[in-house]
Amino acid sequence: MVDQSRIDTLRAAPVAARKLLIDGKWQEGEGRPGEVTSPIDGTHLTTLESASSNDVDRAVAAARAAFEDGRWSKQPPAARKRVLHAIADRIQAEAVELAVLGIRDNGTEFGMAINAEPGSAAGTFRYYAEALDKVAGEVAPTPENILGLVHHAPVGVVGAIVPWNFPLMIGAWKLAPALALGNSVVLKPAESASLSLLRLAEICLECGLPEGVFNVVTGPGSETGNAIAHHMDIDVLAFTGSGPTGRRLMEASARSNLKRVYLELGGKSPNIIFPDAPNLAQAAKVSAMGIFRNSGQVCVAASRLLVHADIHDEFVAMVQAEAEALRVGDPLDLNNQVGAVHSETQLAHDLSFMDKAVAEGGEIVTGGKRILEETGGTYMAPTIIAGVERDHNVFQNEVFGPVLAVSRFKTEEEAISLANATDFGLSSAVWTSDLSRAHRCVAGIRAGLVHVNTYGGADNTVPLGGVGQSGNGHDKSMHAFDKYADLKAAWIQL
Ligand code: ADP
Repeated sequence: MVDQSRIDTLRAAPVAARKLLIDGKWQEGEGRPGEVTSPIDGTHLTTLESASSNDVDRAVAAARAAFEDGRWSKQPPAARKRVLHAIADRIQAEAVELAVLGIRDNGTEFGMAINAEPGSAAGTFRYYAEALDKVAGEVAPTPENILGLVHHAPVGVVGAIVPWNFPLMIGAWKLAPALALGNSVVLKPAESASLSLLRLAEICLECGLPEGVFNVVTGPGSETGNAIAHHMDIDVLAFTGSGPTGRRLMEASARSNLKRVYLELGGKSPNIIFPDAPNLAQAAKVSAMGIFRNSGQVCVAASRLLVHADIHDEFVAMVQAEAEALRVGDPLDLNNQVGAVHSETQLAHDLSFMDKAVAEGGEIVTGGKRILEETGGTYMAPTIIAGVERDHNVFQNEVFGPVLAVSRFKTEEEAISLANATDFGLSSAVWTSDLSRAHRCVAGIRAGLVHVNTYGGADNTVPLGGVGQSGNGHDKSMHAFDKYADLKAAWIQL
């Protein structure tokens, strides 16, 4: 168990200004340094170097050189496995420090961050350490005088651009499988939440990852990210973030070297409650956490609640009670269950949905406002909006905040139709005791992930990816390797 005094000691330590990691050396960038503000109390945390396009060029050149000379890419699998396991061990050993550092710039409540950030990242490094020597090629069924082989060749240089909501978890989802196959990586964290990933980069070096294999370039999306997106020598770009940025990245690929672009974008994930849910009280509790944990700043947040008319009022009251019982506040106070909204910009965006929702006929059942303003931090009350119809703004568009949109349905067909009535398709859930109905919903819901009688917690054994405007490609599981390898065939005359 972690005690409050240890967290308080860690949070009191000043955060040193951070540089870029290029070719194993901490370097200054040409861009204007960025200031980092803590969402916990609005105070200034530290300063980060910004990478210009020249700096990104240097990082990519270092990554390419490392890939070509084989210092990592040509090491035996067992050697790469040892390094990735060592990284996992270090993340685990430093879990509390990493969690607190990350919370100071991103605002996630400690109870969630300790598992979802260092906990998950360590698990991901371990998963791909174990998996990397299980990726075998194929022998093709050729004529007798031919040997046909299919290899999984590492792509070379991987660019990764990640968001601020779970930097370590999402960073590790890209980094670990890419490194496992022998690739080099140039990673850009979100400019407002880079600290835990910069520490991870130090850990990687200390654990024996050769210099130049993993480079970190901090800086704004419009400059540093844009330079990565347009780079002529990055082979694959793996991204998690917003839809508009995802579109820009695809466009940049088309305008540059046609690098493969994998996008994990937002969602508007439906959570369907049938009257025969095995345990409505449990469903209400999990549904509340499915949207309100990390203040709803979760790409797979269960942000649309679809409730059968027969239990609608009763169930919404249960979720309301759960929402109102949540303690929101300082994410580093172990008594709190929900932390801060990441920034003033994000909070203004979340609140901008309220007036429109009401104007369109929705009813704010609870929340709908900023709270704890006196702390200097950015906090929002868990919010439930009932009476939401499929053409409403809050039904169709991702808030990425603690806002639950509730709609009513009468039949299974209507529930599935409502579930599928947005442009997104990331996560979803159905709560029912009817096995056949559960399977019909799994088949009928257009999403990369369908939960049944639970929400969240899907581990590394299953892929995560979206359909529709939630993106393409998959993080986690053996399928993540597809992004970071090319199939190479050999046709050999014997
Ligand atoms: P969010 O709303 O979660 O901040 P963004 O898509 O804006 O989503 O940010 C996700 C990541 O994409 C961040 O690292 C950000 O700096 C980066 N980013 C933003 N704009 C661009 C861009 N034009 N080109 C490349 N990267 C970008």
